[in-house]
Amino acid sequence: MGIGSDFREDSWVREGVLKDIFPRLFALSSKHTLSINCFMDTQVFLHNWDFGFRRNLNERETAEVIKLLETLEGIRLCASKRDRRRWDLEDSGSFTCKSFQSFLRNKGRAETFPPFSLVWKAKSPPKVKVFVWLVALGKVNTSDLVQRKRPFMYLSPQWCVLCKLCEESVDHLFLHCPFSLSLWWLLWREVGTVWVIPKGCSDFLCSDFVVWGLGKLTSTLWGCLVHSVFWIIWMERNRRIFEDYKGVRVSDLWDRVKYWAAFWASVTKDFKDYSYSTIMRDMAAAVK
Ligand SMILES: [Zn+2]
Repeated sequence: MGIGSDFREDSWVREGVLKDIFPRLFALSSKHTLSINCFMDTQVFLHNWDFGFRRNLNERETAEVIKLLETLEGIRLCASKRDRRRWDLEDSGSFTCKSFQSFLRNKGRAETFPPFSLVWKAKSPPKVKVFVWLVALGKVNTSDLVQRKRPFMYLSPQWCVLCKLCEESVDHLFLHCPFSLSLWWLLWREVGTVWVIPKGCSDFLCSDFVVWGLGKLTSTLWGCLVHSVFWIIWMERNRRIFEDYKGVRVSDLWDRVKYWAAFWASVTKDFKDYSYSTIMRDMAAAVK
């Protein structure tokens, strides 16, 4: 931060505009519209503040000054640099309409992507990560979404091809479909736990779900397994729709889930001493 900003009017501290936080001190100061460098007594040393109060302060005002100094304590000023405005909603510091629109849409909170860790830190191939990211955002082309995008197209039938019981949506296809649910149950059995499936895929991917205890091996294999379930369900669904293919049983799909999860995990640094068949044979033993 440079020293050219308006000390009282600009929002240069995290807490907000100093004039609004300390109105009493602002009224007592003789320096109302001066830049930050006018408040520093550089004869002593760079961070000696001189607020220019017009009279001696009483006890209550002194307490406020202490708060003001505490607020300024973490500020590091650089006398040799000029100020520049920075847009906090973008890492680059530059303004974008997109970040401002997200800010407004989120009622004044900066947009975050909670499932970041389970999506991007997983060790699956990039195309699978991108696919799981689209699942988290609800932007996979399931029948309901295709119908909304192209209302003039009549999709018949638009039910879920795995169970043929309900309309296909992202949350149904990947979580609540009886077929997919059976696959998740096999995963819970593998990791030795039970869990109520959340309402949506985004909630699912945001969950801080701990299996087999903590550790690098565990988180690597768990991430691969979750990605593999999503990926295998999607592959099965697409083959049933677009190919002359009747489908396989859940137990066969579970073998594919384990195969891909073990294979992705086996090529990571964490599992360099394991072959994919060792991991696949006993996953709980591989993460110990
Ligand atoms: Zn279904």
